[in-house]
Amino acid sequence: MSDPATALATIRSRINAAEQAYSRTPGSVHLLAVSKTQPATAIRTAYAAGQRSFGENYLQEALEKKAELADLDLEWHFIGPIQSNKTKAIAEHFDWVHSVDRVRVLKRLSDQRPDELPPLNVCLQVNIDAEPTKSGVLAADLPALAQAAVELPRLRLRGLMTIPAPRSDPAAQRQPFAALRRLKDELCQQGFALDTLSMGMSDDLEAAIAEGSTLVRIGTAIFGARPAR
Ligand SMILES: *Cc1c(COP(=O)(O)O)cnc(C)c1O
Repeated sequence: MSDPATALATIRSRINAAEQAYSRTPGSVHLLAVSKTQPATAIRTAYAAGQRSFGENYLQEALEKKAELADLDLEWHFIGPIQSNKTKAIAEHFDWVHSVDRVRVLKRLSDQRPDELPPLNVCLQVNIDAEPTKSGVLAADLPALAQAAVELPRLRLRGLMTIPAPRSDPAAQRQPFAALRRLKDELCQQGFALDTLSMGMSDDLEAAIAEGSTLVRIGTAIFGARPAR
C-alpha cells in the first residue's frame, strides 16, 4: 500500500470516475476516511492531503485520537455499533452518527447532546439483507424509527446507512444499494427530508455510487490493511 496521500488521490479519482460513469453530479459523493485502528499520525497525514472527515468505530480509541488531534479542524463520524452506555460520549464528541438502529439510543443521543453544539447528524443503519446476526433496523421497522428520530429536538435525521452482505460481482453488489435507495425515496415521499445515503466501502464504492450513494466510507483503500486490535 502506498502512503495515505497517494491512496487518497486514487480514491478521489475512483469517486470522480464513478460519478461521471453513472451521471451523478460532480462532487456529490462525500468521502469519509475510516481511520479505525489507525494511529493519529495517519489521520494527520490524510489531513495534510486535504481530508477532513474521519470515521471511527471504537469509542475509547476515537476519543484518544481526537484529543491528540485537537489542533486540527476535523469532522468526526461514529460508524460502529453503539452500546447504550456509550451514547453520552458519542453525543458530546461527534458531528455525525451513522449506526443508530433503535429508539432507546436515539433518545439518549438527543438527551445527551450538549446545548452549545448543533444538533447531532444521524443516519439510521438498515440491515438490508435481513442477516440474523447483523446490526441495523429491518426495513419493516424503519418508518417508525425515522418518525422517532425526527421528533427528537437535538437530532437532525440525515439519511440511511447500510453494510450489505459481501457480494463479489458488481451487478449483485448494486442490489442492496438499490434497495436502500428505494427505502430512502419512500421516506422522502412520506415527508422526511433526507439527503444522505451512507453506502459503499473500499470494494464496492462504484456499485454504491451507481445507486445513489452520497457518502462512501473508505478505510483499507486509504490506510492499507488494518493492524489487529
Ligand atoms: C471498517 C468500516 C468501513 C471501511 O471498510 P473498508 O473495507 O476498510 O473500506 C466502512 N464502514 C463501516 C461501518 C466500517 O466498520
